[in-house]
Amino acid sequence: MSEDFFGDLSKQLGVAAQTAVDKTSSFIEQQKTSIKISAALHEVEKMYQVIGEMVVLDPEGASSSENVKNLVAEVLQKKAEIEAMKKDVAKMRGVKICEVCGNRIRLEDMYCSKCGAEAPVEEVEEVVEEVVEEAPAEEAEAPISEEVAEAIAAAKAEVEAAKEDAE
Ligand SMILES: [Zn+2]
Repeated sequence: MSEDFFGDLSKQLGVAAQTAVDKTSSFIEQQKTSIKISAALHEVEKMYQVIGEMVVLDPEGASSSENVKNLVAEVLQKKAEIEAMKKDVAKMRGVKICEVCGNRIRLEDMYCSKCGAEAPVEEVEEVVEEVVEEAPAEEAEAPISEEVAEAIAAAKAEVEAAKEDAE
């Protein structure tokens, strides 16, 4: 057997191994992003809960409350982050999301197949990520970021005060 044969073979094996690595890396990345999305959704839910409570207890107070304003700003920011992360996941899955109707379309499509809106061709970023990585541990309850926890605590204190006033 010639040396070329082994040379070619190892080259081919190298390519195959590389492809497998890319797939694994992107799968882990997808999982991680999905976990981040559900954590952010959980935060948004918690914030809505406090905002809702405040609005029901003291509608006028709620509309002028700095704490409620902070929570609303935090909710809007989280929602924007969630949208961005959803886009990332779609990209990793080889699809993009129509900005007009939310339909999933193939990355290479220039127009949405559902509503016909123009779908800008997005460049695919190279994912540089270490491959050997432990799967993220499952948690009973997603952790809440510090800013959100603080905003919730402040608003909750206000809710408690409004409750006392109501009694
Ligand atoms: Zn569309």
